[in-house]
Amino acid sequence: MINVAIDGTSSSGKSTMAKALAKSVGYTYIDTGAMYRSVALFCLRHGLITDGKVDVERLLPMLPDINISFKIEDGKQITYLNGENVENEIRGLEVSNNVSLVAAIAEVRHAMVRLQQDMGKNKGVVMDGRDIGTVVLPDAEIKLYVTTSPEIRAKRRFDEMRAKGDTSVTLDDIIANVKMRDHLDTTRKESPLRKADDAVEVDSGKFATAEEQIAWAVDYFHQFMQGK
Ligand code: C5P
Repeated sequence: MINVAIDGTSSSGKSTMAKALAKSVGYTYIDTGAMYRSVALFCLRHGLITDGKVDVERLLPMLPDINISFKIEDGKQITYLNGENVENEIRGLEVSNNVSLVAAIAEVRHAMVRLQQDMGKNKGVVMDGRDIGTVVLPDAEIKLYVTTSPEIRAKRRFDEMRAKGDTSVTLDDIIANVKMRDHLDTTRKESPLRKADDAVEVDSGKFATAEEQIAWAVDYFHQFMQGK
């Protein structure tokens, strides 16, 4: 078994691709964004974020109290924060608007990276995030870097939210959110989002459908394994 690291910008379709690839090849899918989102939710609930700033001093002693785990229910991966199913809440706009702030904190990253490395130590994982190929699993055999324009990515998220019946935000809100997160993710000091030198870049805008993107990834995986 090998490890697959999938990094890229938000709403690039990398999670859908990573999830489906893992299922197709019988590997474990790990959504590292869900872990940072859970920490952001914890901070919001504890009043640790005000005016776009995180109260790091208060957060640090609380870090050991943040327990994040995944469970498979009806074939879907569900995120738990201290025993509570937070899968829906962590996908909302409030968490989305604050997650990059929390993910920029060095101590938060160190704690999450340690957990993620542990999850990948026996191989057989498809891990998706921002720093998987560069920091978390630098030895991953397959590294993909997925991105496309902010407008195409925002439209994806918009369609997803509408499909769930969520009409609380406009397309412009989402474009702004995607651009803000790109900026924060690529310019932060602590392991900024960047393509690993040995990662293969995938322009997700070139696929007409999510199915096509998934088929490409599954095919890439099998070709890699044959050539090993
Ligand atoms: O992948 P997703 O959009 O759910 O990630 C949410 C946020 O978590 C990202 O915008 C980024 O700020 C942060 N993140 C990160 N490192 C990762 C995964 C996510 O900094 N490995």
